[in-house]
Amino acid sequence: MTKTPDALQLTRELLKFNTINPPGAEQACAQHLGDLLKRAGFTVDYAEFAPTRTSLVAKIGGVKGKRPLGFTGHIDTVPLGSAAWKADAFGASLEGGKLYGRGSSDMKSGVAAFVVAALRMVEQLKNGPGVTLVITADEECGCGGATYMVKQGNLLGEVGALVIGEPTANYPLVGHKGAFWLDVKTHGITAHGSMPEQGDNAIYKAAAAITKLRDFDFETPAHALMGAPTLNVGTVHGGLNINSVPDSTVIGVDIRSVPGQDHALLQSRMQRMLGETVEVTPTLDVASIYSDPAQPWIQHVFDVTQSRLGARPQAKTATYFTDAAVLKEAYRDIPMVVLGPGEPQLAHQTDEYCLVDRIEESVAIYSELIKDWSH
Ligand SMILES: [Zn+2]
Repeated sequence: MTKTPDALQLTRELLKFNTINPPGAEQACAQHLGDLLKRAGFTVDYAEFAPTRTSLVAKIGGVKGKRPLGFTGHIDTVPLGSAAWKADAFGASLEGGKLYGRGSSDMKSGVAAFVVAALRMVEQLKNGPGVTLVITADEECGCGGATYMVKQGNLLGEVGALVIGEPTANYPLVGHKGAFWLDVKTHGITAHGSMPEQGDNAIYKAAAAITKLRDFDFETPAHALMGAPTLNVGTVHGGLNINSVPDSTVIGVDIRSVPGQDHALLQSRMQRMLGETVEVTPTLDVASIYSDPAQPWIQHVFDVTQSRLGARPQAKTATYFTDAAVLKEAYRDIPMVVLGPGEPQLAHQTDEYCLVDRIEESVAIYSELIKDWSH
């Protein structure tokens, strides 16, 4: 048997793989983790939705009557951004208790922490309900890896609860909003810019549509923890040259929904409001997740994190969405918690780092959750 790496060391190894998405190219990073888990006795299955776009599921244990505990995390990262980095984004340098690198907080430290927690407990896990680790590609561009895995029948198996190791500074969060992105297209007729009366201006139609979108009424009460759903017009693309009447415009709309909202219903209401000549096409559709804080396993997560945080966690939710929104299709109505060592405010930032102490703290929390699950 090979020696289990510590989580800091494993995070540093993962940071050295460039998995910036696009293009992603998670294969080498996924295989590094897969090899490590296989050597320790896990069953590892890979899933590639495109060449080099590799996700994996690692399973160990399994008994009748109790499903395994699930952990999930993604290994792709966002691009570096336009500002220059002081640190080497792939150097995994350590300075003053901070580990620098793209993906250090979001979320290679989280993946390393649950992998190491599972590796350390491998002997107990073999003879109990076990764990299932779902490590995904392409989360950052719309949960592509997770979506593909859900479509592969029983690849994911079943889990009884799910920990999503996204950056929360080890504070447990009980859910997040859903995301529903739409392209809203207006059409017109082009003409020479000096004779606009001969055309039909798609940008004017878009302007009218945007005004209506700004006042869109969700007709939904605010969620107790997540607040109200939101709508943002994020992009507008229209017109090719200044001296023509534009014949098409695309408006990018980003809706963040709350539990209980039906995205298909939202779309049909928006369509009705904008009129039939406007085309409304979804480009991303991921559900919200929410676990009742009173649920016993959630309370147990609060117990375990309380001693580390110094105070009992309040029920709170994340602002971002996660792969859990997609995995929920396979895993159904199970308790889920977003809980990971990364610093949420450093996700996607220049000179992203993770606090070294949080990584081991996270391993300790995950280990306790696994231990309790194994009884
Ligand atoms: Zn993330």
